[in-house]
Amino acid sequence: MTVIAKVMVAAPQVSLAQLLGVPLGLDVWEVAEDHVILRAAEAQLERLERMGYGVEQLQMTEAYLSTFATAEAIAGYHSAQTLEQDLHQLAEDHPELAELHQVGSSLEGRPIWALRIGERRGSADKLLVLGCHHAREWLAVEVPYLLAEHLVSNAGSDPVQHWLAQGEIWVAPMVNPDGHEYSRTHDRLWRKNRRQNPDGSVGVDPNRNYGYMWGTLNVNTSSHVPSDQTYVGPRAFSEPETRAVRNLVARELFTGVLSYHSYSQLILYPWGYTAQPIADPDDHTELRELAEDMHKLIRDVHDEHYTPQQSSQLYPTAGDTTDWTYGEYDIPSFTIELRPDTQEEGGFILPPDQIQPSWEENRPAALEFIRRTLDR
Ligand SMILES: [Zn+2]
Repeated sequence: MTVIAKVMVAAPQVSLAQLLGVPLGLDVWEVAEDHVILRAAEAQLERLERMGYGVEQLQMTEAYLSTFATAEAIAGYHSAQTLEQDLHQLAEDHPELAELHQVGSSLEGRPIWALRIGERRGSADKLLVLGCHHAREWLAVEVPYLLAEHLVSNAGSDPVQHWLAQGEIWVAPMVNPDGHEYSRTHDRLWRKNRRQNPDGSVGVDPNRNYGYMWGTLNVNTSSHVPSDQTYVGPRAFSEPETRAVRNLVARELFTGVLSYHSYSQLILYPWGYTAQPIADPDDHTELRELAEDMHKLIRDVHDEHYTPQQSSQLYPTAGDTTDWTYGEYDIPSFTIELRPDTQEEGGFILPPDQIQPSWEENRPAALEFIRRTLDR
């Protein structure tokens, strides 16, 4: 039995940074200035209270699921299979500028797809858009998919026409198809992939399995304990899903990366593994300014705020995608945490009528990222 709870500091000897700084097996959902929203077993919450934290139980996980994970909500999103069909269709309808590539296979043998969009192969400027490293973050499939659809549908007019004449955009909306399928059929809140770990637990967190500063932290949000939600895996790139991305990036040498997640409405840039800012001042300025510009573009659509910040300001993570793409390839790399803002609004289970407005507000930010990284 798990509970969704709000955890605050209730004694002078503890802090929220400390709570995130040790591997306690908590499923951290939101981090605010003065509280953390997480899912945990009741026994874990009692332990937190004994340590000096204030715990307010918000909702039993079951009640949360019955409120948000309705049949209608499930029907509103892609499955691995319908995504494959729709990506095939986009490629078939626009053969002059879109090609579907299988870039790898998941542990359970599901294909991992990327749609390459651009008039010709092998251009110098290419960028990569990734979705759904984390199984339960279904909106993070839809926004990249809708971006791909937008690009092929608007290929006849500028600015898209100009971009597709000179560069390429690769869109892989579902990096973790096994986990996604499991979240549809067994456990809506499943996060990791479906690796059978030696201790009997299941899953490696693909967004902690990349090979830059991999495994350098052992904390609640980046854990060496296999049963934890953020288990980093036995070694960097131990998982076929992250190897698929690694091989694609090594082959194509992208000039920018956007990786979509949900939720919390954030625009995160490296580093995640350290509180230090990135060392190169020009890179730092460029990333911060791009994040701030994307924040404004998103806000101007539906007045939703996506806070721009260094990734480690949210919580420490080692081995995430964007630390690796920036650290290894020195390219602008962002993690965008989509709607909603809070657990009360659905958290990971966003009502499907929010897909369209989420896409509408993210569209100008994604297009600005394309403009800035392709038009260099
Ligand atoms: Zn995520």
